[in-house]
Amino acid sequence: MTDTPFWQRKRLDEMSPSEWESLCDHCGKCCLHKLEDAETGEVYYCDVLCHLFEMQTCSCGDYPNRATRVPACAVLTVDNIPQFGWMPKTCAYRRLSEGRGLPDWHPLVSGDPASVARAGHSVRSRASLADNDTDLEQHVTDWDL
Ligand code: SF4
Ligand code: SF4
Repeated sequence: MTDTPFWQRKRLDEMSPSEWESLCDHCGKCCLHKLEDAETGEVYYCDVLCHLFEMQTCSCGDYPNRATRVPACAVLTVDNIPQFGWMPKTCAYRRLSEGRGLPDWHPLVSGDPASVARAGHSVRSRASLADNDTDLEQHVTDWDL
């Protein structure tokens, strides 16, 4: 037996489904609406969230069906992480795929889900839910992602 946690001794493609899911810190940043500059490809984050996002839990309101409910939802797999270069630099999946490990505030490290908000990485206090009338261009925000 080893005391080394799974995210340090396993590659992403070696993790079990439950280990993979536990990597998500529920920051909510990937559920923010984004705009892409068609010419430069640059991605701009807004301060409004996908309508399926649940503020209370800071997670998806229909996670099993997210891809059909929201076709634009990015469903991360071990194979497609590189396609989502816009994922926030803090995202655990991006961090591990880039060999950067998990930060102190990650719940798996801190043992406390609230450490994400304490470290300023939860969108909950800075974003609202979008509706059909939301003009995304008016909501572009510098998240320092
Ligand atoms: S950005 Fe990454 S860690 Fe944060 S909620 Fe999305 S998938 Fe989870
Ligand atoms: S469908 Fe769920 S996981 Fe996908 S962007 Fe919306 S709230 Fe986030």
